[in-house]
Amino acid sequence: MNRKVDFLSQEEVKAIIKLSTPLNFRLGKEIFDKGGIEIIEYTDNKIIADIGDSQRRKVEFLSTSNGLQWSCTCKRNQKKFCKHAVALGLEITKSGVQ
Ligand SMILES: [Zn+2]
Repeated sequence: MNRKVDFLSQEEVKAIIKLSTPLNFRLGKEIFDKGGIEIIEYTDNKIIADIGDSQRRKVEFLSTSNGLQWSCTCKRNQKKFCKHAVALGLEITKSGVQ
């Protein structure tokens, strides 16, 4: 991903990644390390990405007045990042968010 993500602060993303379980963090890092992240859509307040290893899932990060909202097609309405969301979070922080 070459474009800079403007709507999320690096600190915000890192803080949410830290809330994931150790297992999901490790699995998400594995996906990230293998480059299993494809950005599908990128707008001023939203990122949608196709994430995965054996099974592909769609993760969406949405900026709202209440902060970052996210969803993933593997599990919905989870408070903690799943491995796919971790992978996308790592991709975003890697690319130099301000
Ligand atoms: Zn997921």
